[in-house]
Amino acid sequence: MNTKHYLSKVGLLGCILLLSSIISSCKKEMPAAQPKAEDENASSIAYFVKKGYKAEDIVFKDGNFIIQTDIVISREDVEARIKNEGASGSPQTEHWRGNYIIAAPYHKNVRLYIEPTVTPEWKTAVQGAIANWNNMPGQGTTIELGMSITTSTTAYDTRVFMGYENANWIARAYLPASSGKPGVSVEINSKYNTMSASQKLFAITHELGHTIGFMHTNQTSGVFIPGTATVDANSVMNSFVLPWAGFTAGDALATKKLYPK
Ligand SMILES: [Zn+2]
Repeated sequence: MNTKHYLSKVGLLGCILLLSSIISSCKKEMPAAQPKAEDENASSIAYFVKKGYKAEDIVFKDGNFIIQTDIVISREDVEARIKNEGASGSPQTEHWRGNYIIAAPYHKNVRLYIEPTVTPEWKTAVQGAIANWNNMPGQGTTIELGMSITTSTTAYDTRVFMGYENANWIARAYLPASSGKPGVSVEINSKYNTMSASQKLFAITHELGHTIGFMHTNQTSGVFIPGTATVDANSVMNSFVLPWAGFTAGDALATKKLYPK
């Protein structure tokens, strides 16, 4: 397990504690009287393992698979992926992307709806994170990717909302769907409301990266993005929070590869 394993302020010890707490709480919430659901999950977990994920990094909770603590994929979407891809597909062995990125109708303007319960400080972080992506070096010349905030409660792509769990994830997000839609939500853990504004900005910029298809730079799950550096210590897609200091050249290059103009 990587010591900088997930989007967190803590190190290895916290990571182990977190995974064990999630797994144990998950066990508590999955009664033994649901063998069918567990069988379905087993085939989904086998799918992820085939893709190169580690089984111990995958937790099933409330109808979703949570990978590496902050990446969420619904069971329905996993089933759609399995159906789409048939029996083929081999593990992919550093910038990394998921199996799906957002499709052309969406990538010019991903519309985010911020729930009214999101605190002003986190709302500022969401606004800042959108500005970060919209102003990434290369935007308008080599990169075509846009995001905006909408107040419409129906015509949006990604919902941002507050949650609470006494755990070490700061925020977590869905990857794009197999249909090419952006990740459907970003959930912010109110446990970390007192985190610095700069770290909040980093965290949300990172989560928005998941919603458009990026995996963790410092891990080897997903598909390697050719041409990007194998080590990028300050990448926004590393799975731990830093104070925000801008995208790295690697972040911009990876974005250009996924969303070229
Ligand atoms: Zn992450």
